[in-house]
Amino acid sequence: MVLRSALLEREGFDHGFGTRRSAPHDFPAAVHILLQVHGEKIVVLTEHTARGTQHAGEESKGPGISGESGIWNMESGIAGSNADIKFSELPVSPFQFDEGDAMASDIPGVSMGIRTADCLPLLIADRVKGTAAAVHCGWRSLATGLAGKVVKALAGAFGSDPGQLLAALGPSIGPCCYEVGEEVRETFPTGLVEEGLFERRGRRLYLDLAAGVKTQLILEGLAPETVDEIVGCTSCNPDLFWSWRARKEEERMISYITAREPH
Ligand SMILES: [Zn+2]
Repeated sequence: MVLRSALLEREGFDHGFGTRRSAPHDFPAAVHILLQVHGEKIVVLTEHTARGTQHAGEESKGPGISGESGIWNMESGIAGSNADIKFSELPVSPFQFDEGDAMASDIPGVSMGIRTADCLPLLIADRVKGTAAAVHCGWRSLATGLAGKVVKALAGAFGSDPGQLLAALGPSIGPCCYEVGEEVRETFPTGLVEEGLFERRGRRLYLDLAAGVKTQLILEGLAPETVDEIVGCTSCNPDLFWSWRARKEEERMISYITAREPH
């Protein structure tokens, strides 16, 4: 069982938010899965790495591309963003793992996945170009503004117009349960500490991860009505979700999205 966003479904994007009831048949045969590094590392999978002849699952034939390649200009592409961006070869086997906090691709049929339990899985899709991204959002990536940097990376790498992007926020630990220390709040730069992101209840401090991610996306140019949210706190719903915070469970839920053909 996976949960789906009506918005992404309507726009023809194969995707799913994993639950603790997910089974292998809920996922595509090949998914390029990120093992998060808790920062702001964005992996870009593009057909330009292999010049056209390659599909997911085939062996890579072409060289990887670098920052000086024609399709990506580090300076103009991610102006104002200091995200660590790495271009990667296509997945060569099902469930290939790579390290990073976000992955984006413009190759139709390529599926990208992230693993979470309490952190927020964010899926972004370009309704016109068909490109997509999977993003792992914890408090660290919220503090570095990763969601906004992925929007910039999609614009820089693939020419995405933020006004044409769709986003779906998956289940994560809610502000009901996500208690954080003062040191977490101090990590957030002034300007990123949006009104309402942190709530003080008695002597405890709580963080609203979903509200923060949503705010960053809208600040980056997404229309509020194109930001979908799957409601459900991973800590409050032990039947449906794994939770590290609530139950110290080691399992992770996989959420994925598959890039499609342009419209
Ligand atoms: Zn909760």
